[in-house]
Amino acid sequence: MKTNIRIVLINTSHPGNIGAVARAMKNMCLERLYLVEPNDFPSAEATSRSSGADDLLARAVVCSTLEEALAGCHFVVGTSARNRSLSWPVMAPRECAARLVEESVAGEVALVFGREDSGMTNEELERCHYLVSIPSNPDFSSLNLGAAVQVLAYELMVATPLAKSVSEEEGRDLATADEMESFFLHLEQTLVDLEFLDNSQPRRLMRRLRRFFNRARPDQTEVNILRGVLAAAQGRKLSRAKGV
Ligand code: SAH
Repeated sequence: MKTNIRIVLINTSHPGNIGAVARAMKNMCLERLYLVEPNDFPSAEATSRSSGADDLLARAVVCSTLEEALAGCHFVVGTSARNRSLSWPVMAPRECAARLVEESVAGEVALVFGREDSGMTNEELERCHYLVSIPSNPDFSSLNLGAAVQVLAYELMVATPLAKSVSEEEGRDLATADEMESFFLHLEQTLVDLEFLDNSQPRRLMRRLRRFFNRARPDQTEVNILRGVLAAAQGRKLSRAKGV
């Protein structure tokens, strides 16, 4: 079993899809299902569609926010059928699975799936280090949720970690998604305090900065140092404002 890999489903409308996902996961040796505000769960339909993977449904963690579902994860991949306007690093399924498996050696990782009708919002995608898109018919690119989980779960099943990156990450306590989120909030607030960021238009620059820091994969000590720098800059600004 791949115990460090979470499958996260956001706002799933149809309980049958949750059941199909549980079945696909169990078939492919995944067992940690997180549900963010499911429309209808627990449900007899989910149990029936899981065809015997109901143990996995019973252990599913129901969360009220995506943040809660990602707490403790140091590497997060989102899924998207479409070519988004958002420019964010995208991986192919095979590459994505190898990367998730190798990152899962160092700690918890998550693969996030969107709503049946509208997928994931840009804000949700920005919480991810990478996006993965399953190659499909450009004129009919959106797979059923259960089918999308099946394809990526299969790739996770057959993926083998690349030894090099595993040893590179060994011994580093990488910052988790929640720690990075607090850091980004602190960074944004500091840039507003310093009047570097236009408070009415913060998203563009913050998006670039998120991409940059996600690429760097800071560990917990590094994030603490950066937050110390931010606090110092905020303190300096405050004492200047007071004329100290
Ligand atoms: N209309 C939505 C598609 C939702 S399909 C949109 O445009 O985004 C429901 C979910 O299944 C998606 O959020 C995604 O998690 C997954 N999915 C469907 N097709 C996919 C594909 N080709 N690649 C990756 N994920 C896909």
